[in-house]
Amino acid sequence: MAKIKMKNPIVEMDGDEMTRVIWKDIKKELLEPYIDLNLDYYDLSIENRNNTYDEVTIDSAKAVARHHIGVKCATITANEDRVKEFNLNKIYPSPNATIRAYLDGVMFREPIIFDCLDILIPTWKEPIAIARHSFGDIYVSKALNVKKGDELTVSINGEDKYSYKPDYDAIFLTQYNKVKSIEDFAHVSFKYAISKNMNLIFSTKDTVVLGYDSVFKEIFNETYKEYKDEFEKRGLNYHYYLIDNAIAQIMKSKGNILWALKNYDGDVMSDMISAVYGSLSLMESSIIGNGTYLYEAAHGTVTDHYRRYQKGEIPSTNSVALIFTWASGIEKRGQLDGNKELEDFGVKLKKSVRDTIESGFITGDLISSYNKSEYVKVNYLEFIEKVKEFLDKLI
Ligand code: NAD
Repeated sequence: MAKIKMKNPIVEMDGDEMTRVIWKDIKKELLEPYIDLNLDYYDLSIENRNNTYDEVTIDSAKAVARHHIGVKCATITANEDRVKEFNLNKIYPSPNATIRAYLDGVMFREPIIFDCLDILIPTWKEPIAIARHSFGDIYVSKALNVKKGDELTVSINGEDKYSYKPDYDAIFLTQYNKVKSIEDFAHVSFKYAISKNMNLIFSTKDTVVLGYDSVFKEIFNETYKEYKDEFEKRGLNYHYYLIDNAIAQIMKSKGNILWALKNYDGDVMSDMISAVYGSLSLMESSIIGNGTYLYEAAHGTVTDHYRRYQKGEIPSTNSVALIFTWASGIEKRGQLDGNKELEDFGVKLKKSVRDTIESGFITGDLISSYNKSEYVKVNYLEFIEKVKEFLDKLI
């Protein structure tokens, strides 16, 4: 069988620990036999980030901006313990934060749902995905201490706009956002909702944070005018809700909602959504900017399984989100290049993962939510082998 050709590259960002091990096996078993892979490779392992003084991270983000599509393996975010473990020069920032800031995109989190797996909220029959604005707000904030009797003045070009003179010790916080970034956030959210045939909810607290959250709301409502016809044609709807009301609406819904949120709200709510759908290993994550697509799994490097792997065990680590990462990157590369064969391969790879789980071959983390009586617990290698068997049947 002739291998599928790839005209333009996908940027590959390799990672750490258990996910690095699985990443390599996914490539070897599920991709290389079928595709003439064209990859622009960056090694984001903690050792290589340290050796390159973290330049490899920013280089990989630039490559995504150049080639438009990237796939990222999970990476260690350094802390004091990791500095000792790997003898690092210093605590480097989270690669995800560096890449996110460079691409200035929107972060999407979407559950991978299987009928044979129970979820915490049984009425959520279809996915609830999060679109998290990935720029600004409290993540760029500066905190100031203001002592009793101090006078703090905010001015623009020397013209005083706001003055604060408390008769108590106080704390003060500044934060900002870019109007262009909010506009891009709105466009990317509407486009994602259309591409997935999902309804869209955007929510903030504009009644309290007047002149800030209300700008987000106005931009979303204004941007909707450009997508209204397409939404109506597809029977989709868009709503702006105050965030408290949005929570009530979403709890009562059946799903099929893309919930667009500001940076902090998205950070918090995406963990709640992941918890409802059961396992971090069944969550896709992507950063989508203006013309750039970066896919990854929502989970980390699964250090606890890696420790057992180092001792010779083959752990039952779930590779679903990692396989979906590759499949989404390949599918999107095919779409952008007009390469139907490549696009179809991505779709078939996802289908073969579904067939594997529906047929009862599951990893340890899924056992408690599996609602069929017959299943076989497999290790991560056996899972990939099973996916390959189903993939071969589809091709
Ligand atoms: P983790 O997601 O690796 O693991 C959290 C828990 O969930 C563990 O008990 C683990 O066994 C389980 N788990 C996660 N994914 C699983 C899978 N695919 N199959 C089976 N079980 C799974 O998070 P952590 O333990 O907090 O962090 C480990 C490392 O990963 C840290 O160094 C952290 O910095 C890094 N991290 C990276 C990313 C990323 O690159 N996107 C995200 C989160 C954490």
